[in-house]
Amino acid sequence: MMTASIRDTFLPFALPDIDQREIDAVGAVIASGWLTTGPKTVEFEKRFAALLGVRHAVSVNSATAAMHLALEAVGLQRGDEVITSTFTFAATAEVVRYFDAKPVFVDIDRDTLNIDPALIEAAITECTKAIIPVHVAGQACDLDAIHAIARRHNLRVIEDAAHSLPTWYKGRIIGGLSDLTSFSFYATKTLATGEGGMITTDNDEWADRCRVMRLHGMSKDAWKRYDGKSTWQYDIVAPGYKYNLTDIASALGLVQLDKLDMMYTRRVEIANTFDQAFAGHPALVTPAKSPDSTHPYHLYILRLNLEALTVDRADFIEALRAANIGASVHWIPLHMMSYYVQTYGYKPEDFPIAAEEGMRCISLPIYSRMSGGDVEDVIGAVMDIANRHAV
Ligand SMILES: *Cc1c(COP(=O)(O)O)cnc(C)c1O
Repeated sequence: MMTASIRDTFLPFALPDIDQREIDAVGAVIASGWLTTGPKTVEFEKRFAALLGVRHAVSVNSATAAMHLALEAVGLQRGDEVITSTFTFAATAEVVRYFDAKPVFVDIDRDTLNIDPALIEAAITECTKAIIPVHVAGQACDLDAIHAIARRHNLRVIEDAAHSLPTWYKGRIIGGLSDLTSFSFYATKTLATGEGGMITTDNDEWADRCRVMRLHGMSKDAWKRYDGKSTWQYDIVAPGYKYNLTDIASALGLVQLDKLDMMYTRRVEIANTFDQAFAGHPALVTPAKSPDSTHPYHLYILRLNLEALTVDRADFIEALRAANIGASVHWIPLHMMSYYVQTYGYKPEDFPIAAEEGMRCISLPIYSRMSGGDVEDVIGAVMDIANRHAV
């Protein structure tokens, strides 16, 4: 397919908003000689908890680690089941497998692409212990419905909020609304430290357990109880993990927190510009908005009406690339991945909405470092491809 490039340079799919402030903050940490978990991490956790109005923010080195520790804290055991959406990233389900427990997938709502709460109850068995709702692109799931189901069946709710910094559900910010919530600071996320994550919770016991298990199951508390003097003393209370966040990452995170509003406002502005440009085109479906949630647009997921096009999604993405525009796909549903097919015998039609919608999603670049010209180039390329290949 021949597409004349409308840009001289390639527009990456994602870019973190890093400037001299982050570089200086990281430089200062390196110069201080304290490289790993320390004062910057404590400060990052404090500010993060305050921002989300939650008692505890426990930092870790990824959202994958955050979800692993959250499931450990609520006592997940081998043979248990955890309900989540098939329309998510690998991490959400793999952490359940760490326990030899079973991820039980549920289909999605066709508009928001979030887990359909109406389908959750049918997936509950006597082995079900928890639900992990995933806020796709950051827009919140129907948490009231999910919490009501969890209460009825005595299940824990752990939110996968990797895309939801920040999101307000019915006017309340995500972070303290469920039993535990996990956030990601991976390089492409709305707050980027390269690698990093956070667990938030109002529950003291779960927070303590996460703190102990993120660093080898080491506890000073057991000694403090009867020996206030020996600060070198520690105990190992369980075989823990090595999931702590470094001060280098936390220094980056602290500067990124200062920019959170600016980055959010800019993404929403870009999303509105995209929405206006694509509205009404027969081949393009803009993201649906939930009346109960703000949309932080970690992703802008454009859906193609493939029956209105003479090309398929792969061709469309290839044409964008030829026009020097990066794009991505979120996601191919997990129940269509060979591991889950081979392990549980899932078939594509088991979750027909995810299978169908997952075939026609394209994630367009959306980040605060995009200029007005960059946004216009994305619109120009998408419209050009859609128009030239209209049925
Ligand atoms: C990025 C992502 C994760 C994993 O985050 P890491 O910090 O890379 O471990 C989990 N869930 C979703 C939905 C994600 O997009």
